[in-house]
Amino acid sequence: MTLRGHRRGFRRLVARFVLFGAIVPAVVPFASGCRGGERGGAAPARSPAAREVIDSHVHITPSMVALATALQVFERAGIGRFVVKSAGAVGSPRYRATLALQRVLGDRMRAFAQLDWDGIDDPDFARKQVPNLERMRRDGIVGIKIFKNLGLGLRTADGKLVPPDDPRLDEIFEACGRLGLIVAWHVADPVKFFDPPTPDNERWDELQLAPGWSFHGGDFPSHAELMAAQERRIARHPKTTFLLIHFANYAENLDYVEHILDTYPNVYTDTSARVPEIGRHPPERVRALFVRHQDRILFGSDFIVEGDGSMQLGSAWHVPDALPGLDDAVEFYARHWRFFETTEKQIEHPTPIQGRWKVDAIGLPPEVLRKFYVTNAERLLFREPLPAVFDPLEGMVVRRRPPSQGPAEP
Ligand SMILES: [Zn+2]
Repeated sequence: MTLRGHRRGFRRLVARFVLFGAIVPAVVPFASGCRGGERGGAAPARSPAAREVIDSHVHITPSMVALATALQVFERAGIGRFVVKSAGAVGSPRYRATLALQRVLGDRMRAFAQLDWDGIDDPDFARKQVPNLERMRRDGIVGIKIFKNLGLGLRTADGKLVPPDDPRLDEIFEACGRLGLIVAWHVADPVKFFDPPTPDNERWDELQLAPGWSFHGGDFPSHAELMAAQERRIARHPKTTFLLIHFANYAENLDYVEHILDTYPNVYTDTSARVPEIGRHPPERVRALFVRHQDRILFGSDFIVEGDGSMQLGSAWHVPDALPGLDDAVEFYARHWRFFETTEKQIEHPTPIQGRWKVDAIGLPPEVLRKFYVTNAERLLFREPLPAVFDPLEGMVVRRRPPSQGPAEP
């Protein structure tokens, strides 16, 4: 968090390069070179169980540098396809640049886009979002990703926080169901972020680095209130598919996660940035949950690459005044593989800043692992083909933009 300010100037510079047209020619040569490129010194930390894992939850800022970094990490870690959760709002530079990336990478990538909350005070706000949602659909966007600001940051003109289940927003969720857009949703942060941010808080290391992640006091709703609002929302829209990320936003409570998955067939979840919490439960219990709901849990990491190529591995980096490098990113993935594939006890979790404890691996059966790593995301997020305009691995034009994607943005 503290590093963000320093990067702002550079990011503005990078932003000028990311518009469609600038990115395509720049990306192709790099991606071609990346395929047979160097793997670094250490042995590849690929998942032995599935070499072409889909990471269903990443944030890649659409710049050449960020994509280059991401592709190097994915190549070494064995990530075959990935899903960007932050394409921005329809019409924004980030949105257009992410679409450009999508056109280059074709079926290697999918993206979720955002709502623009400006105008939340307009009584017609929700209805006015529908054309944007239709536009996303035409552009091949798979769904909307809603950040925790809905509930914890977004306020109306009277200063009140907008609750996640605010009925004024119903039309948006209904339209997503009608259009086949998935609602990926970050409703709440870890429970301890709602406790006082003091040295005896077990997430103190992280809260010190990112004080803005503390939701203690003020007029913030409690974690329990957010979970109740989340449930009311998914119950209200049975025809809408929800991807409740971060282990249904309540990795601390397997009973809650199980209750949600048992009760609502329209809900999927992912593991992004929550292995440290998931791994604190008895491994047999976690394994049983994964087996029981083997068709609705997706592998996701929350791997972030900023426009300047700097990375975040699930959360803030634990080494003061340093940023993670490529080897750290590969190790981040390797720790996931170890957690899901072995039955080792008391191993390091992928995100040191998220808690000074160790976790017990859950050793998923091969057929469950395959669904978790590949098939579930394939079925949910890659169901419609999106051919590349270029094949980045060959560096040549293979197909024109499909007509369904509509005219280019002005
Ligand atoms: Zn994320």
